[in-house]
Amino acid sequence: KIKLRLENRSLDHLRAPVICVLGHVDTGKTKLLDKLRCTNVQKSEAGGITQQIGATNVPIDVLRELTKIVRPPKGSQPFKIKIPGLLIIDTPGHEHFRLMRSRGSSLCDLAILVVDIMHGVEPQTIESIKLLQDRGTPFIVALNKIDRLFEWQSNPKKDFWDLLKMQKDHTKVEFEHRLSSAKLQLSEQGLNTKMYYEYSDPKEYSWIVPTSAITGDGIANLIATVVKYNQEIQPEKITFSEELEATVLEVKQTIGHGITIDVILKNGSLKIGDTIVLPGSKGRPIVTQIRALLLPKPNRELRIKTEYAEPKNIKGCQGVKIVAKGLKSAIAGSSFLVARCQNEIEILKDLSQEKEILGCIQCEKR
Ligand code: GDP
Repeated sequence: KIKLRLENRSLDHLRAPVICVLGHVDTGKTKLLDKLRCTNVQKSEAGGITQQIGATNVPIDVLRELTKIVRPPKGSQPFKIKIPGLLIIDTPGHEHFRLMRSRGSSLCDLAILVVDIMHGVEPQTIESIKLLQDRGTPFIVALNKIDRLFEWQSNPKKDFWDLLKMQKDHTKVEFEHRLSSAKLQLSEQGLNTKMYYEYSDPKEYSWIVPTSAITGDGIANLIATVVKYNQEIQPEKITFSEELEATVLEVKQTIGHGITIDVILKNGSLKIGDTIVLPGSKGRPIVTQIRALLLPKPNRELRIKTEYAEPKNIKGCQGVKIVAKGLKSAIAGSSFLVARCQNEIEILKDLSQEKEILGCIQCEKR
């Protein structure tokens, strides 16, 4: 039934894909997120990067601006962006990812696996790969810190390919050497990789984009590759569906609102008064009504926590804070459902708890 619906969906309605950043500690995950967030922050009026609940929204205009230096491969058309934007989860790291318990699917449509070019594969790189493969989440490898190659000459305004050609011979040799050693180490983990510009079959190869989160080199190519992967390789996956798909990122106190949940609403819509059913930590599902939906007000100082816009309803894909009673035992990483009528509540209670149990078994296995 779900498959049929998928086929019926129109590819005209692509939603923003959800992107996570994973990798070993100190590889530059946080820096990479900062770089993505700051590149265009001055333009944060209409159309600019906006901070959402738990995520950063990079809208289409900013994506266009960021990727305009990317040169299409010889003989191919200039790169055209079809997605409305990217929703990048703010908290990097695989611990966070591990929490995602929703059955069968994962919150992230695509992950960026950050590897330090100077260190290659490290213990948490391996852990991250396993986690991603377990979840069936595709990923792109950002081979970060290229600015640390001996006498690397930076120019973030250049396409990576052109920039590499500009480097001195010994820098190119070092790059090739470190790239092949990272590829070899990744292949030892059962992962075949190719450089992003080869556009090899993504079922067989993971794509590598060299980057520097400090200088910004390669960032345009990384973003372009993330966009391309989503809209060309998995357009069905990122097509907006009315079927609700929402994941709890965090359960926390919000001044003036008590315990609230920060949620990524990927598909479907939510409105004030909706009855939501979500797993509770004591094995008892929570059934509660949405009292308010909170979004950060655009162009406001983010630290003023009480400044929220309160829309009556919202549509995926975006981050939202939900105010409701009885959320104390809600669980980060769980997904929830909306009961459209009284009869549905009992069914959904069973379903949500089943999901929770399944999540726990999966966690214990690791
Ligand atoms: P995380 O633990 O993966 O989030 O790593 P961070 O983003 O905190 O970065 C760890 C350290 O590496 C910090 O000192 C960063 O300034 C530095 N770093 C991150 N990215 C780069 C990069 O591309 N080039 C260089 N030279 N240093 C980087």
